[in-house]
Amino acid sequence: MKRINVTQSSMPPLEEYVEEIRSLFESKWLTNMGEKHKKFEEKLKEYLQVSNVSLTVNGHMALENIIKALDLKGEIITTPFTFASTTHAIIRCGLKPVFCDINRKDYTIDADKIEELITEDTCAILPVHVYGNVCNIEAIEEIANKYNLYVIYDAAHTFGEKYKGKSVAAYGDASVFSFHATKVFNTIEGGCIVFKDETMTTILKDIKNFGFSGPEIIRYVGGNAKMNEFQAAMGICNLRHIDCELKKRKNAYEKYREYLCDVKGLKIWEPQRDVEHNYAYMPVVFEEEFGKSRDYIAQILMENNIYARKYFYPITADFQCYNNKFSSCRLKVARDISNRVLTLPLYADIEPNDIERISSVILSTRQ
Ligand SMILES: *Cc1c(COP(=O)(O)O)cnc(C)c1O
Repeated sequence: MKRINVTQSSMPPLEEYVEEIRSLFESKWLTNMGEKHKKFEEKLKEYLQVSNVSLTVNGHMALENIIKALDLKGEIITTPFTFASTTHAIIRCGLKPVFCDINRKDYTIDADKIEELITEDTCAILPVHVYGNVCNIEAIEEIANKYNLYVIYDAAHTFGEKYKGKSVAAYGDASVFSFHATKVFNTIEGGCIVFKDETMTTILKDIKNFGFSGPEIIRYVGGNAKMNEFQAAMGICNLRHIDCELKKRKNAYEKYREYLCDVKGLKIWEPQRDVEHNYAYMPVVFEEEFGKSRDYIAQILMENNIYARKYFYPITADFQCYNNKFSSCRLKVARDISNRVLTLPLYADIEPNDIERISSVILSTRQ
């Protein structure tokens, strides 16, 4: 039985990448905002339909850098139903995460529960468009305006999406993307910050390069978060194929739907209204009625050489490293979904046969 992983990286044809990096072997300019970096940034602005983009070495540093650049202090209201990076970034920057529960419909932050968590120390809201599900943008914006808070979206899962006809990257004060190898669109490792306030261009540029504003002027205590030329070249190539990749993902999703849509106790991911989705993930939730637990099904899949993942378990609030410091009993929905959800393999080049095999293994557990 062939091994099936939860994802597989999208790559351009080898010759195309070789052609793209050829000039680097002539210029010998490998990083520090070279020609590929400039070209990729321009292409990305065009694709995302936004005016301000700052490329970074990965998505995590993009999160840390936007928190630093906005000089945020105090508390940030966020979701615990996310990848470690979102919460770690807040804490590593010296702020306190205040966890808000999620909603049962799309697993994004429950906008109705944000307001009660606001204190005089709250400086920002950091929601996640989890699985590519777009948050309740209007409600979040209204609260942010009322209390004068920044909104930073962790948009790591939403590359290429549109909400109400507009690029999802254009909402909030900033949106952070990840171009990690496992994401819908990759630059091997990489990421970017899309930001609204053009005057932040300089600080975001400097802060990723040790705070250098000139050869002898160091204005910020910056780290190193620069995207290198080989990453940018990968981005240029992969961006040429993104439309086709997204179509293939949609087809894979439709295939899963055929097998799994009418199964009692099995709640499959459904597209949202008003959203042009990227079909980044295939989360399924096993409810009581299904008769078998998520952990049992994950185990049976593994015995069949199928590696689904428990995205996201445990919720970040319960991470061992935080010693219950930020945990809360108000996270009922997040904990419940986290115990029941399984993310099935989905990527552009997954074979229809594989989807059939995965689905039949799941359905066979009920007997
Ligand atoms: C992948 C991911 C990140 C981190 O991105 P990297 O590029 O891996 O550093 C942050 N947030 C979420 C929700 C992610 O899925």
